[in-house]
Amino acid sequence: MADTRFVETSLRAANQPPPLAGYDLFSENRPLVEALRREGDVAEEERCAAFGHLCGREPLELGRLANEHPPTLRTHDRFGERIDEVEFHPAWHGLLRLGVEHELHATAGGHVARAARFMTLAYAEAGVGCPLSMTYAAVPALRASAPELAEEWQPLLTSTAYDPGLRPLREKAGALCGMAMTERQGGSDVRANETVAEPAGDDYVLDGHKWFCSAPMSDAFLVLAQAPDGLTCFLLPRVLDDGSRNGFRIDRLKDKLGNRSNASAEIRLEGAVAHRVGDEGRGVATIMEMVVHTRLDCVLGSTALMRRAVAEATHHAAHRAAFGRLLSEQPLMQNVLADLCLDSEAATATALRLARAFDEDDHAFRRLAAAVSKYWICKQTPPLVAEALECLGGNGYVEESGLPRLFRESPLNSIWEGSGNVNCLDVLRAVEREPESLEAFHTELELARGANTHLDVALGQLAAELADEADLESRARRLVERLALCLQASLLVRHAPAEVADAFCATHLGGEGGRAYGTLPRAVDTAAIVERHRPRLG
Ligand SMILES: Cc1cc2nc3c(=O)[nH]c(=O)nc-3n(C[C@H](O)[C@H](O)[C@H](O)COP(=O)(O)OP(=O)(O)OC[C@H]3O[C@@H](n4cnc5c(N)ncnc54)[C@H](O)[C@@H]3O)c2cc1C
Repeated sequence: MADTRFVETSLRAANQPPPLAGYDLFSENRPLVEALRREGDVAEEERCAAFGHLCGREPLELGRLANEHPPTLRTHDRFGERIDEVEFHPAWHGLLRLGVEHELHATAGGHVARAARFMTLAYAEAGVGCPLSMTYAAVPALRASAPELAEEWQPLLTSTAYDPGLRPLREKAGALCGMAMTERQGGSDVRANETVAEPAGDDYVLDGHKWFCSAPMSDAFLVLAQAPDGLTCFLLPRVLDDGSRNGFRIDRLKDKLGNRSNASAEIRLEGAVAHRVGDEGRGVATIMEMVVHTRLDCVLGSTALMRRAVAEATHHAAHRAAFGRLLSEQPLMQNVLADLCLDSEAATATALRLARAFDEDDHAFRRLAAAVSKYWICKQTPPLVAEALECLGGNGYVEESGLPRLFRESPLNSIWEGSGNVNCLDVLRAVEREPESLEAFHTELELARGANTHLDVALGQLAAELADEADLESRARRLVERLALCLQASLLVRHAPAEVADAFCATHLGGEGGRAYGTLPRAVDTAAIVERHRPRLG
């Protein structure tokens, strides 16, 4: 029965829902809270809740402002000297400061708790995730391949002081690090990099260009360049010890579809001084330590976008009436919303399980699971956001609702850190060259065997797919999708409420769903699923 009193009241208020703001973004995300308790340190819950409370307020507005006032490039100062700086709106600095002060660029408190906080800020605004994530990922790469550089840089890269501005390291209280691999002639195929690194004493001098270099106001970058013995990784500071600017020129900023709060630049390296990280010729292997961490953050970022889309859609439907009844009580809308909730919950469970592999230094599991989850979760995000946007009707298409910004952001994580195909080919590489990663993945899947018939059948099909070595390259997406769905199902079967796990397995593995959202079969308890995901205000 519809609550007619409520409907009448909302109709008097022009039938518009209250803004979805002023609430605890973390605690109202029940699957995330449960995942933190399961995969991480429960002692971190209070800190996450306090952060969720904070992010559900002013940062939502800062996110809007930072996107409506995108960064601008200043190549020269008033005297005609090159400065190559990017100016950001104060809202960007406010959000980045928040991220640094709450250690989203570092691992204090563990990777799982950091993942929960990262997702909470990414709900409010995704752009600042880029420099936070690259800084978080640079430290392990430095530690693994250049301990002496790590000793110098790590205290600043993990500092909780947000200290923007280009100054020598000794004058800074905190620093950020970016990454520049992609060149004009090739991004996925970094072996085609043309930037040259000439040895010069203990260091190298780099000349060349980078076609995409995000967060160009960072204090240093991990870059790839061709040294005498092949492609090599370098740490390139923007300011040299004597205070002069390094040869890092910003040619222009990209005019991007989304992610507009963040700057992504085309740069030229002209005699730029850089320090070698790892051996010459080992550039790809060295930077892979960074990439596995940024892939985790792509998973977290996309999961956060899904969560926000689901929160906005379920909230709207709970307050908007049509044909005399709340949308949330209309069976077909319930079906759509519940279907969205399933993917959001599956992504959340996967994201935090993956983060645990980083806490446990489980290199085997994280190697494959990061690539598999990155492909699948990032790939699912745009259609999910598009459907959530439609749940808000015309309001969803209007900028003020926040959904258009979410929609424009949604394809990005699938492109960088290995675009869809490249990620899938990387999964094949891991399966072939690091069989222990597939073994660790299987061990996780087997934990759920016997709990759901659809999953048991799917595990058998997966084994057959893996055993068939013919035409693997063209079957890579098919294979990775199955790996991802089996992982998600295995997590939900063990940890989610029965209505969520059963519906997920029936539709995603058992063929009982359709190709669009809103095609769950009759038996699914859609109302219970939607209620679990709907944020409550106040
Ligand atoms: C907003 C934004 C910010 C970015 N910031 C950075 C940054 O800070 N640092 C940085 O280094 N890069 C950055 N990038 C670049 C990004 O990492 C690359 O765009 C990405 O790696 C893809 O490279 P590409 O653009 O050269 O595409 P290509 O390598 O030309 O690939 C084009 C398409 O072909 C597919 N493909 C490639 N090889 C194969 C194959 N063998 N088989 C089948 N399909 C294949 C890819 O999956 C992709 O879909 C950024 C990109 C964007 C959009």
